[in-house]
Amino acid sequence: MRRACFFDRDGVINVDYGYVGHVADFTFIAGIIPALQRLRQLGYLLILTTNQSGIARGRYSCEDFLSVCGHMQRCLRAEQAHFDAIYYCPHLSTGQVSTYCKDCPGRKPSPGMLLQAAADFDLSLPDCCMIGDHAGDVLAAKAAGVSRLYLVGADCLREAAQCPQARCYPDAASVVKEEFK
Ligand SMILES: [Mg+2]
Ligand SMILES: [Zn+2]
Repeated sequence: MRRACFFDRDGVINVDYGYVGHVADFTFIAGIIPALQRLRQLGYLLILTTNQSGIARGRYSCEDFLSVCGHMQRCLRAEQAHFDAIYYCPHLSTGQVSTYCKDCPGRKPSPGMLLQAAADFDLSLPDCCMIGDHAGDVLAAKAAGVSRLYLVGADCLREAAQCPQARCYPDAASVVKEEFK
């Protein structure tokens, strides 16, 4: 069995400007690329799990999202820091685009995306970790059986109130520096 580090995207990998659906709005957070490189060196699969309700809300299309993914992966691949897989949930029960209006077991805080990744990559979930910036990220991971939970960003202490097992850090680079020596 293998181990992975799960990541949320917006607010962890790139600056969360709110509904980032276009390449022009995609800015890597400082220090994230060396952090991803380090985890890869340590033998972790890098797996992105991202709620993209902007698609259901009609803020951007699925194609827009996939082109942002392509851009992100090209940048990361050039640095040996790319994701091994990207799981996304475009759904929202109260969305505007009927195709994507449903209550989806993939949408965090539900663990669907992580469980799918575990099946696809034969992961040992207790040996995996999750780095997110909202309680839903770490709650999804906890529900999946992931044991190492990290919250990052300016609101991490507030978010951690909903998941006290999560440790708080300013950013993912700090998590890797302190927790993955
Ligand atoms: Mg986020
Ligand atoms: Zn979904």
